[in-house]
This record gives sequence, structure tokens and C-alpha cells, in this order.
Amino acid sequence: MMKFITTRCQDKEYTFEEALFSPGYVAGGLLLPKTIPQISQEVLKSWLGLSLPQVCKQILPLFISGEEISQEDLEALIDDAYSRLPLDQVAALSSFPNGLNVLELGNTKTLAFKDLSTFIMARLLEFYFKKREKHVTILVGTSGDTGPSSIEAIRGSGWMDIVVLFPKGYCTEIQEIQMTTVMDENVHVYSVEGCSDDVDEPIKAVCLDQDFKAIHNLCTMNSINMCRVLCQIVAYFYGYLKVCRSVGDEVEIVVPTGAAGNITGGCLAYRMGLPIKLVCTVNSNDLLHRMLSTGELSTAPSVIKTYSVAMDIQNPYNIERIFSLFSNRDTALVKKIMEEFETGGKTTLPASLLQKMQKVLSSASFDNQTVLKTMQRCWSDHHYLICPHTAVAVSYYFSKLDRMEANQTLHQPTLCFASAHPAKFPEALVAAGLEPKPTPYITNLQVMPKRCLEMKRGQNWEKILREKIKEISKRAGVDQ
Ligand SMILES: *Cc1c(COP(=O)(O)O)cnc(C)c1O
Repeated sequence: MMKFITTRCQDKEYTFEEALFSPGYVAGGLLLPKTIPQISQEVLKSWLGLSLPQVCKQILPLFISGEEISQEDLEALIDDAYSRLPLDQVAALSSFPNGLNVLELGNTKTLAFKDLSTFIMARLLEFYFKKREKHVTILVGTSGDTGPSSIEAIRGSGWMDIVVLFPKGYCTEIQEIQMTTVMDENVHVYSVEGCSDDVDEPIKAVCLDQDFKAIHNLCTMNSINMCRVLCQIVAYFYGYLKVCRSVGDEVEIVVPTGAAGNITGGCLAYRMGLPIKLVCTVNSNDLLHRMLSTGELSTAPSVIKTYSVAMDIQNPYNIERIFSLFSNRDTALVKKIMEEFETGGKTTLPASLLQKMQKVLSSASFDNQTVLKTMQRCWSDHHYLICPHTAVAVSYYFSKLDRMEANQTLHQPTLCFASAHPAKFPEALVAAGLEPKPTPYITNLQVMPKRCLEMKRGQNWEKILREKIKEISKRAGVDQ
């Protein structure tokens, strides 16, 4: 049976159910599968031509044993999750003559790739509630897209309430109204006077209180939850099979990165035997790029606001999963690196770990001006609109293209992940001199009534959050 262990301590093993319901840090670390299932080239070949849900049905059972959820139940739940998405558009591949390949992971319900994991996670949670009959409160801190996606996945459920904290003024207007126009009773949204890393603080504080956490059944849908990361492995296999020239050849996958949950899915896919190289692309919040190019891990003085808001993050908490995967699960080493980083704000990675990561992972950082130029260039060259997050990845592709000699061709396919839909980011499109094309979903949102709770500067956010959770539990009849 597949078990899970944390990045910082090997003593205890967890079941999938325990991992799913854990609100973030477990024994100080983050959870990962104990063993990594291996996919041979023969198996990979047999997956050619599978649809995205079909690939998902191959991947998830490798991590969720039949003893925990039967294959039949798991497949039904995957179908249920995908039936809520516009499947004919999700993960469509756009390929252009000069070798640019884009996997459209942002053509989802809330117009961000996160739906591909939150929707499945919500159905998994529901599966267990039906057995446990126990109410759960989900806590989410968002820099813009996790909030709308988690709310959409959870709204209307009788078993779950969701509390979302977003940083006031840091999300785009559309992201904000995606959250504030939801009137379901089980959805509670706070506008917080802080930045995206600040909103995680009250959540972390509340979840560290073991008794409180247990009484109120707290859980999270941020990528700190391992289930999100597992679901994100699927796109790497699917994308690989779509663009590889023949199975076994290497493909380069370029990932717009923030908290590094998505690229951790890529690292797992690599460890499972998928022949890929990964490019971690970031905006001016470039901790990961500095780390992967020099081995220096250090926070910048403050978060820089960019057009790719969902990547305006300076604490990419999934890095410890990546360290774990590339250090052969050296829990003592991961603990040492993370504790030094957490207490002093900086540390240096051991050269051997850095080298192992660099064999698979490279990185690049692009500022706002470059991102806008990339959006313009995609439009003028290909009549193709991309969102400012996707443009961070595509900027890497263009920079590679521009460095090539005229008669050179790319020796391996490059696949850029599109992480959101351009219609969601009209501000960036306008700044790039392009015309936003709102979808009916967005036009509809703009005329809906809004509501929102507040956490103001100077207030005790942790206390406000605790009170809210108690009130939710009371309404749900949870014994307190
Ligand atoms: C969340 C998000 C990202 C970053 O993903 P991580 O898993 O946090 O690295 C990139 N682009 C968009 C549009 C997002 O919503």
C-alpha cells in the first residue's frame, strides 16, 4: 500500500487519507509519496493517444491504493471532476511553425490550471465525508488563482466550508470578483491588508495549534497539500505524449512558477521515469532562479507586484519537496537547509544537491517589460493571445529562439505550459497594446452582487480567523 512521509522526518508514515486531510505542514515538513512508482517506456508507449482524464486514471491509482479507494470509485470521481470542466478545450495543444508548443492548461472553469487539481481534490474530500460524516473547514491563502479555483470546487457542498484570504490590492479585479460574487453559504472570503505571503501567516498559526486543528477538522487546498501536487503530475505525462517525436526522446517543459507546486509535479514525473527537462520560469520575484543558478537561497526585501500576480511569491514553500526528491530523501539535510532559511532568511545549498537539481532543472527570470513584449510578439507572429503568466514561460522560448543561428533548428521539442486564460488578465493585455476579449463567464461576473469580509492592518488576523472557524463549526454542529 502506498504510504507518505514528510520531507523533514522519516519516523512516521501516513495514509493517503491522512495526507489529503492534513492542513499543510506535518511534523514540520511537507508530505511526499514514500516510494516513487516507475513508468517504463513500454507502459508510456501504451498511453499514447489517451485523453487527459484517461492519463489521470493511470497516474492517480499509482499513489492511491485500491485498499483506500477502489479503482472503480477513483475513476468515477475523476470523471465527476472532469465533467465540471470544458473538456473539449482543457489541455488543447497549440503548435506554431517555429517550434512553439503551448499546452492550454488555463482553459478551465475559473480560467486557471489549478482547477485540474482542486476539482479532483474536492471530489476526493467528498468521497471521504460520505464515509466519515464529519464536517471539514478548508483554509486557503491565495495570490489570485487558488482562491477562485478552490471556491468553485467546494461551493454548494454540505460537508465543507471554505475560508479564503486574499491580499487586498494584489489580485486582479477579475480574480477578486471571482471570489466576492459567490453567495453560497459555505464560502467565506476575506480581503486582507497585506501581501500574498502575509495571508499565509494566520492560516499557518491556526493550523499549528494541534487541538484546534483536530476539533475543527481543518484542511487546505493550497499546493502545500500533497494531493494538489499529485494531480499536477498528470499534465506532464499528457503533454509529453502530445509533443514527443517518439516515446523515449527528451522533451523540455517550461513552467510558469510561483509557489512551485506545479513544477514539483514535474519533478515527480521526472523521477517516475518521464524523459523530460524542466525549466522553472519566474517573474521579477526570482528567488527560484537565483537559487537554481547559484545555489544561494535567500528572500528578497519585499514582493514585487507584476502582471503575473499568481507568481508574485517569495516563499515558494514547495522547494523542500524538490530538495527531498533530489537528495534521495535526506530528511536531515532538508531539515537543516529549511531551518537555516526560515530563521536567517538565507542559506547555501550543498554543491552536490545543486548539481543533481541542475541536471534536470534550469531556470530563467523575466521582468514585466519582457513579458509584455512576449505577449505582443505572440500576437503579431501568430495571432495568439497569452496571459501574462504563460508569457513568462514563452519568454524563455523566445530568448532561446533568438540565440539560435538562422540555420539551426531546435533539437528537442519545447513545451510551454499555459497556466491561465488571457481573458482573465485584461490589465496586462491593455498594457501590451492588445485587445482583451472577455468570455461570457467574465462578462457575467461583472454584473453580479458582491460581498466580502475584511482583515484590516492593526487587527489580530489570527483571532478573526479563529472566531470565523468556531462560528462555522457551530453552524455545522461540530462538537467544540
Ligand atoms: C498558481 C499559478 C502559477 C504558479 O503555480 P505554482 O504551483 O504556485 O508554482 C502560475 N500561473 C498561474 C496562472 C497560476 O494561477
